[in-house]
Amino acid sequence: MRSTAFLVTIALSSLPIAGLLAADPHTHAHGKAELEVTIQEGKIQGVFRSPMDNLLGFEHPPKTDTQRKSLERLRQRLGDATVLFRPNGEAQCAARASEAKSSMFWGDANAGHSDLEYRFGFDCKKPELLKQIEATLLKDYPRLHEIQTQLVTPTAQRGVTLKRNNRILTIQ
Ligand SMILES: [Zn+2]
Repeated sequence: MRSTAFLVTIALSSLPIAGLLAADPHTHAHGKAELEVTIQEGKIQGVFRSPMDNLLGFEHPPKTDTQRKSLERLRQRLGDATVLFRPNGEAQCAARASEAKSSMFWGDANAGHSDLEYRFGFDCKKPELLKQIEATLLKDYPRLHEIQTQLVTPTAQRGVTLKRNNRILTIQ
């Protein structure tokens, strides 16, 4: 029995990262979003998933000039991860190229609802000084109320709920 339990423990301990990174079905709930952050050897990798409504206030292809501008502005902002997520300055982290996917970016009208999948990353020159990442987008997008966050580091994995008044993801 003991050896069986040991094997199960090993199997489970290797699961969380794979499970987190898989594009598993997630809930589409307006006001809520999900974030996975993996930190290893000075590299921060993130996947942020959110209903587009949280960032735009609509989820259909833009119908007015204002909506078209909002969508274009969002697309531009997503081009620079430091606009949305801010590692503490001492760690000297630079954003890598990011990738934003949403049916709204290619004008898919079928959905009724639309999600954003946003992959971003940072390279930190001084990873030993990395203490926190602020989810500044919680300040900028009032329709976004909370981000269910999973943080994975070489030594720990934990879940944190980030909110407008609690935007700091503590690393150490
Ligand atoms: Zn929706």
